[in-house]
Amino acid sequence: MKRVTILGVSFSKLNMEETLNKLTNVVASDSNKPYHVITANPEIVVGADQDPDLKQITDQADLITPDGIGIVIASRWQGDPVAERVAGYDLLLNLLERGNELGWSFFFLGTSEEANQEATAIIHERYPNLIIAGRHHGFFKDKEAELIEQINEARPDVLVVALGAPRQEQWIFKQKENLHTKIAIGVGGSLDVIAGKVKRAPIFWQKLNLEWFYRLVMQPTRWKRQLALPKFAIKAYFEAKRK
Ligand code: UDP
Repeated sequence: MKRVTILGVSFSKLNMEETLNKLTNVVASDSNKPYHVITANPEIVVGADQDPDLKQITDQADLITPDGIGIVIASRWQGDPVAERVAGYDLLLNLLERGNELGWSFFFLGTSEEANQEATAIIHERYPNLIIAGRHHGFFKDKEAELIEQINEARPDVLVVALGAPRQEQWIFKQKENLHTKIAIGVGGSLDVIAGKVKRAPIFWQKLNLEWFYRLVMQPTRWKRQLALPKFAIKAYFEAKRK
């Protein structure tokens, strides 16, 4: 698979359709170990650059998609552009769509009990042919063993993990050997968006590549996390210059 490496993180150059086809093949395979998908934004890249544990996780992931315009721009600076942005929320909706066509089963892990229930009910209504093999909220601390058992009994094709980044990536990595699913993917706050608890930036903002700014205005407490953006831009720019 063609990839481009940005600050040590190796991004897939597949577009959304190719990514979906790749994941469809994974579901069709007889694999029993999760194929770990990370939709990585600049924050994850900066995190992996600074934290060897996170670097190990990105190194060992099976597929890392470019989530966020920052990654797309950085790949252009390197003269080796990714095909397009493949954001977590969009990829999740596409997976649900594909799963609905092909009868895949899903397990939805993460967010509050209320939002998880709400999101799952909405997904059931919108995608009636996919199988909801199970669901669980994201605050399971000392009940982890039971949770793993519940997931493995459900044996979903796709385990959707909405614990926020990088917690979800750390959790999938830690449990990879114990989980029996075809795909495990972290989707951040996507279940909250489906449940209507959090609004995604309107298309207008997305088209202007200002989704990050919209999120900052709507959830100002995120400003600290977004400090990663300028850090990423500077480091990625100088990395590209050096090449
Ligand atoms: N969350 C969770 N368990 C935890 C901590 C967080 O399920 O122990 C959930 C939280 O309720 C929220 C999501 O993880 O639904 C994080 O969303 P955020 O928008 O911060 O994620 P991002 O998309 O930025 O990675």
